[in-house]
Amino acid sequence: MAQILKGETGDWEIVIGMEVHAQITANSKLFSGASTDFGGAPNTHVSLVDAAMPGMLPVLNEMCVEQAVRTGLGLNAQINLHSEFERKNYFYPDLPQGYQISQYLHPIVGKGEIEIDLPDGSVKKIGITRLHLEQDAGKSIHDQHPTKSYVDLNRSGCALMEIVSEPDIRDADEACAYLAKLRMILRYLGTCDGNMEEGSMRADVNVSVRRPGAALGTRCEIKNVNSLKAVQMAIDYEARRQIEIIEGNGAIVQETRLWDPAKGETRSMRSKEDAHDYRYFPDPDLLPLELKHDWVGQIKETLPELPDQKKHRFMLSYGLSAYDSSVLIAEKVRADYYETVAQGCDAKLAANWVINELLGILNKDGKAITESPIGAANLGQLIARISDSTISGKIAKDVFAEMYATGQTADSIIEGKGLKQVTDTGAIEKIVDEVIAENPDNVAAYKSGKDKLFGFFVGQVMKKSQGKANPDMVNDLLKKKL
Ligand code: ADP
Ligand code: MG
Repeated sequence: MAQILKGETGDWEIVIGMEVHAQITANSKLFSGASTDFGGAPNTHVSLVDAAMPGMLPVLNEMCVEQAVRTGLGLNAQINLHSEFERKNYFYPDLPQGYQISQYLHPIVGKGEIEIDLPDGSVKKIGITRLHLEQDAGKSIHDQHPTKSYVDLNRSGCALMEIVSEPDIRDADEACAYLAKLRMILRYLGTCDGNMEEGSMRADVNVSVRRPGAALGTRCEIKNVNSLKAVQMAIDYEARRQIEIIEGNGAIVQETRLWDPAKGETRSMRSKEDAHDYRYFPDPDLLPLELKHDWVGQIKETLPELPDQKKHRFMLSYGLSAYDSSVLIAEKVRADYYETVAQGCDAKLAANWVINELLGILNKDGKAITESPIGAANLGQLIARISDSTISGKIAKDVFAEMYATGQTADSIIEGKGLKQVTDTGAIEKIVDEVIAENPDNVAAYKSGKDKLFGFFVGQVMKKSQGKANPDMVNDLLKKKL
């Protein structure tokens, strides 16, 4: 359920639309052969084109176009076989061309739709308005000299996809779910690494408020929201700010605002009145981009199984809940790991172990699943030993801890430590007899109706067997003898 905010004068609904810039995974830039590697020394990945030397001409990188098409297909969107590059003109020190090559009236991808997963387990569809290709700018550096600024052009000319959503998002939770889902899809597709810290994925958040059911209100666009936490806080802050203004009989001015993470507030950057006039016009250096239907078809055939498809398959073929499935498919490597585990054992038990035990401890240690000391097949072996009654679930947890610490296989630990469950009736019977003989008072109390004492006897037998007696057999034998 979308969050309704209570104001002084009644209920308010938040309306949100997102513009996400995603850096395309490609070896070279959108219009030059320079490297796209992150973190190189300043100005080491800059071709003459990226530095906008006079007379340099852009040459479109086919790989970037393919990535944009692949992404469009993954967003269930219309692929426009005809698109155009335009110049978006503005002056900024980190933009040596004096304009950004972008797409405006004719983007490469049109309308689409994705499903987001909400915290209460429900799903909601969010419309995609468009996706267009554009160049990234360089970076101004202001903190290295008291009176000078420096410019690093390594990022200049890297390919971005700007993905614009419809104003279908209704609160901060939905906004985070949207970003999380978008990131997941991009990572599955291999078109963007989704790394928000390194700036490979950056979100501008448009926020307005209205009375439920009323027409859309005036929006403000918030920039510089670089983490899910910032998205959450910026939306909550901005919605309350707007409600207070409207309830105080003021009006919202459409403007661009900046999120200040240190102060926890948004503040005005520029109003729409003095917004840039970008003087868009078709770039005379670039022909319109014409794609072949067959070429798009070929890309479509190579699309991997996407998160939602995988989630539904996990629910159907492994009998998992929607929640467990969505945890497991959150990363492709995690889903692959799970499927290897589940090959050798009970699928539901495998899901429990991966989610509760493995992800639990990896999370605690800050490790990725690719760094797990326990390989997937090995975890499958451990779970199979529970199912075939070689060990109890309780002992399995000890074996798991040992596997995690040493990297040894389940079988070698079970063998080496003599942990095999005792299923020999005679051996268990002997222990049961001993426990009964040693506790005459409790036996008498149990027989006179103190049913709760049954657990005490089970505990004693398990203790004497060092946890190795088969619990079902212990129960049966105790019932019989008592
Ligand atoms: P611009 O080009 O000025 O940024 P767009 O039409 O491209 O304007 O819209 C940008 C984003 O703003 C889109 O994600 C859209 O969904 C969102 N948006 C539009 N109207 C509203 C509104 N009233 N409230 C919240 N978001 C909105
Ligand atoms: Mg915009």
